[in-house]
Amino acid sequence: MSQYKIAVIPGDGIGPEVMKEALKVLEGLKEQDSTFQFQADMFDWNSDYYLKHGKMMPENGMETLKNYDAILFGAIGDERVPDEITIWELIMPIRKQFQQYINLRPVKKLDGMKTRYDDVEIDFVIVRENAEGEYSNSGGRLYQGMELELAIQNTVITKRGTSLAAQFAFEYAKKNGKKKVTSGTKSNAVIHSMKLWDEAVQLVASNYPEITLEENYIDALAAYFVQRPQSFEVVVASNLFGDILSDLGSALVGGLGISPSANLNPNREYPSMFEPVHGSAPDIAGTGKANPIAQIWSTAMMLEHLGRNDLAEKIMIGIESVVKQGKVLTADLGGTATTEEMGQAIIEAMLANTERTLA
Ligand code: NAD
Ligand code: MN
Repeated sequence: MSQYKIAVIPGDGIGPEVMKEALKVLEGLKEQDSTFQFQADMFDWNSDYYLKHGKMMPENGMETLKNYDAILFGAIGDERVPDEITIWELIMPIRKQFQQYINLRPVKKLDGMKTRYDDVEIDFVIVRENAEGEYSNSGGRLYQGMELELAIQNTVITKRGTSLAAQFAFEYAKKNGKKKVTSGTKSNAVIHSMKLWDEAVQLVASNYPEITLEENYIDALAAYFVQRPQSFEVVVASNLFGDILSDLGSALVGGLGISPSANLNPNREYPSMFEPVHGSAPDIAGTGKANPIAQIWSTAMMLEHLGRNDLAEKIMIGIESVVKQGKVLTADLGGTATTEEMGQAIIEAMLANTERTLA
């Protein structure tokens, strides 16, 4: 029996609210299944921490996190601290230094979820390149406050980084019996970086003759997401394009309240990090309206990464049965339940529906 060490960073706003429910889910699994043991250590690295200490994490923060099997992250963002600090001093160091170069974001319509697409199946994943691209710290601002003020943001696309993302996408397709990988690009315009992206993706694709490569310009791809979401299987895109597509994908299947993500270090040299796609949602923080599904589903992705697919599946059974019953839903899904009520309903459904398989 293995004991997993999990670093928990609830963050700001609704982060701690939804994290509380995810931790209860883990506790529930532990109580039901004695082969599952974990130690969850809490880290209060958020905007309050920053206002007290002048930094988002202690000097040895990254060293500390290295000792964990996985990081479970809530969300960060607070109006008292600029986003460039919360993001660049907490999320980005973790993603970059732990070489979490893949951000995997499932776009899956759950059974019973009310969407505009009631007659089709939507079940694909977005593989977002997570370490380079448009989110680089190359560039800067000049002449602030002056008439000629300007900002430069350099995009860094490397053949290696793109190949790693493409390889992950094709391997994922192969392992999951998918037949097509769609690449988001913009190489029609004068964007040099996307030309290299295309060449690198095409080279990887040539090693997978059984899988079709579909290349779409990002603007058209956004429209296809809305027009024919059922036609996608695996979508690979650069850091910024992948970010935009995943909020769009999320909106197709129920919204930000349900969408999970995994920041993966595929070589497993460092811990991977699991977090909802959504942010700290200051507009609903403190009201009990936050949907805990995205955080709980992210927790399922973490368990899958740790090799406990059985437990991940149990969580998904819990989520799906609550959505299907449609009785205990938060406001974003058309209900009146609180975060805690919905979390509780998911835990109960998970335990009730999976008891028998264990007996
Ligand atoms: P957001 O995702 O926080 O919120 C967007 C909208 O979705 C809001 O109306 C919000 O109420 C709703 N929403 C989000 N999560 C929900 C949930 N679980 N249940 C119900 N409704 C939910 O994005 P934003 O408003 O653009 O950003 C707010 C802050 O979060 C900013 O500071 C931003 O920088 C930060 N942010 C952080 C992350 C992260 O931690 N990785 C990601 C995105 C944004
Ligand atoms: Mn985003």
